[in-house]
Amino acid sequence: MGPIIRKINLPRLVDITFKFLITNKISPDEMIGSARGENNIWGRLSIEFFGEFSFTDSMFIQTLWKRDKDAFKTLVTERFNLRSEIKKNDKKQVSDILIELENKNPEDFVKEDKDGREWLSAEFSSFISQKVQNSGIKCWLKCNYNWLRKKDGRKKGNYWNGKYSCISCKNEFKLWISREKSLYLHLKPLIFTGKHSEFILPKEKRITDHARLQLSYKIKSVGIANFRAENTFENEYINYGKIRKISSEFTHRNRLFNEVRIDADALKNSFDILIPVTMQNG
Ligand SMILES: [Zn+2]
Repeated sequence: MGPIIRKINLPRLVDITFKFLITNKISPDEMIGSARGENNIWGRLSIEFFGEFSFTDSMFIQTLWKRDKDAFKTLVTERFNLRSEIKKNDKKQVSDILIELENKNPEDFVKEDKDGREWLSAEFSSFISQKVQNSGIKCWLKCNYNWLRKKDGRKKGNYWNGKYSCISCKNEFKLWISREKSLYLHLKPLIFTGKHSEFILPKEKRITDHARLQLSYKIKSVGIANFRAENTFENEYINYGKIRKISSEFTHRNRLFNEVRIDADALKNSFDILIPVTMQNG
């Protein structure tokens, strides 16, 4: 057999394989047998993934699994074990899990503090929380700290490290990305005693009158759609209806003071100066 040169969507394959195991009540250890025949495990799985049976596809998936190509087998097994452990005993420590970053590039979320240390924004925390919940953990994470490796530091150590805790229970998680451009994020529970039976969602942000005016500047300067897209403040968000309402309040207010001409730049500058205060008070 020749070398594998086909490109496939690995996260999708991991997802489908994981669901295949659950639906068919089989464990990763039982992923054996011949790739020939559409009623065997590999045949059925390849139908799920490719839509129809072909022996080549079936053997392709079997080979990926056997060789653990791109950590295919590892990823599925990790997710499977995590699920069974959570099911068995909520209090028990779960093992490290791998979270697929999919098309998210951490570099798009980098912020820098005044000393030049880089960290990943609250928007990234929300993304992580959603992924963590997809893997069966019911917590919503808030950041205790997170740092990128120092730019001038030695190339040893993880590219990114963070410590997060649940907004509802005492669960704590260590998270890290081992190297730049990695496809995966690692998660290790440090404390895993939380027992809430519901998936936790971030609560809606309360907005004071003072913050409202500044938010209206922000919404008007970036547009409702953009604002909505980046609208997560650590563990809170503003619902869409409220964004629209605040935006229309701005329009109304401006109509009242339309003799004062405020150009877009001045508006944006005032936002940049004012907003950090808002974030602390809000
Ligand atoms: Zn929790």
